[in-house]
Amino acid sequence: MLTARQVKACAIQAGADLCGIADVARFRDAPPETHPQSLFPEAQSVIVYASRILKGSYRGIQEGTEWSSYWTYSYGSGIYSSLGDATTALTNLLEDHGHEAVVSPGVHTLLDEAPPARPPLGPGRRPPCIALHMRLAAALAGLGEPGWSKVFLTPEFGPRQRFEILVTDAVLEPDPLLEEPICDHCLQCVRHCPGHALGGPRESTTVGDRTFAWGAVDCGKCKVTHWGLNPLASPFVKKDLPGMNMGIDKVTYDWYAAFRLGFALAPRIAYLDLVSKGSAEHGQGGRPGSICGAVGCIQACNAHLESRGGLKGGNKG
Ligand code: SF4
Ligand code: SF4
Repeated sequence: MLTARQVKACAIQAGADLCGIADVARFRDAPPETHPQSLFPEAQSVIVYASRILKGSYRGIQEGTEWSSYWTYSYGSGIYSSLGDATTALTNLLEDHGHEAVVSPGVHTLLDEAPPARPPLGPGRRPPCIALHMRLAAALAGLGEPGWSKVFLTPEFGPRQRFEILVTDAVLEPDPLLEEPICDHCLQCVRHCPGHALGGPRESTTVGDRTFAWGAVDCGKCKVTHWGLNPLASPFVKKDLPGMNMGIDKVTYDWYAAFRLGFALAPRIAYLDLVSKGSAEHGQGGRPGSICGAVGCIQACNAHLESRGGLKGGNKG
């Protein structure tokens, strides 16, 4: 019989850095559009695995010399190649043992949020557009917790990892939820966020006796900053769009409007256009680049957690 230990060893050997498992019972309060059994009715276990974001991929942004490495290697083909290898290896292992495995769709990472609830297309049907909530699935698999920034924190890499999720009918021993909180509410993420997007009203969810809480994120402010349209984070706007005077505190775009604005303006800003064209060659679909470099929510948080001496590094599976 396939064991949890074998599954996690497979993920790590294939290139993931972290792997944890939740049983489907932990999702009992999840709404249908994020429930594993909406995706795969026979689901028994949810496997969540992660690859680390390389610290060095931020160096060019920190030095003010190069903005494409983070976008290419810690968003695109670099990090998702190891996650893709792990997905293939895990799926092969599960199928070889007579099980089925379904990858939770990644559209939620494109939308930066769980899919909106939509009515079923007919009587007795499940809702369309199903994807598991990435951060909560990772928490339920015992890998860590959402920090106050809402970025997921692990004991190994703090805020520096990206995830994939497999839903399977294999019954696997679940990992315990993380007991010791990682986030100490230092607010370095909030102070260093050039999008002024973090630290909104408290939001939370409770699973069993564990409550996960974070500050609401203004996703519109984050997205225009992330796309390099906020002069507080991007040296390129004033040069190429001298008439544009975006005051981030006045921005009221929702995420979708900010997303579209990035696509509309990036081709008009020479460096963003260059990064965008480079990202197309690395499987990023020619989207505008990640110019902010997560300087608050990841970089400042990582520096704080490292200064506390609290990150383990290494693999966990
Ligand atoms: S920077 Fe501090 S408050 Fe923000 S998520 Fe990290 S530990 Fe929590
Ligand atoms: S990506 Fe940038 S703008 Fe968005 S929350 Fe992180 S630091 Fe703030």
